[in-house]
Amino acid sequence: MKNLYNALLLKHLYQLKNLGYKYTDENPYSHEEKEFLELPNSLQALKKQAQNCHLCSLSKGRNHVVFGEGNPQAKIMFVGDVPLEIEDNTGAIFLGRGGEILTTIIEKVLNLSREQVYITNLLKCHPLLTKKVHKSEFYTCKAYLFKEIELVEPKVIVTLGERAYHYLTNDFTALKEIRGTVIKKDSYSIVPTYHPNFLLKNPSFKREFFLDLKKVQKLSTFYK
Ligand code: SF4
Repeated sequence: MKNLYNALLLKHLYQLKNLGYKYTDENPYSHEEKEFLELPNSLQALKKQAQNCHLCSLSKGRNHVVFGEGNPQAKIMFVGDVPLEIEDNTGAIFLGRGGEILTTIIEKVLNLSREQVYITNLLKCHPLLTKKVHKSEFYTCKAYLFKEIELVEPKVIVTLGERAYHYLTNDFTALKEIRGTVIKKDSYSIVPTYHPNFLLKNPSFKREFFLDLKKVQKLSTFYK
């Protein structure tokens, strides 16, 4: 969803579908309301808006909104999927052992610090109450992610894990088939790879992760 209006419209349609509707031509928002639903044009204001967001049920159980962090003009952006409990407790992104793997690969392979890239997630709230995140929640929250991409203008987006790739692109190809390929979009390239938390349980995939990041490093040299 590229803006809040579309995200809210989709959420409304999911609600109608759950009630048994198969067709509707109802539009719940007036022209004036549509303009009000534009997201702000600065990362600071966007973060503030997300911190007060109650657009989906995940707002009920969160302690902190976990918004993106890093260089607001980064050439490389990492997109994960869902904040962990440890991140929900602090509001900081990519903590714990998965976060350590990500930091190490940024420093050792990309020769950058965490502060020089931008790191964010599909969802800004940790799903405390619901074990399985509903796809409508990904679609609703995606409006924030698209706005972050529009404001940061990265040249390379590294999606971490299958859900990050699927929901960012709407391409539901299995990660094992698409991983490590460079997918060209209008203003950036996407490189899908594993989520660092997956590597904690499956360390044998670390080599492929390393090779994917080498590819990102080569791509990034074009944008220095
Ligand atoms: S997950 Fe996203 S859409 Fe849902 S309440 Fe949090 S910020 Fe809002």
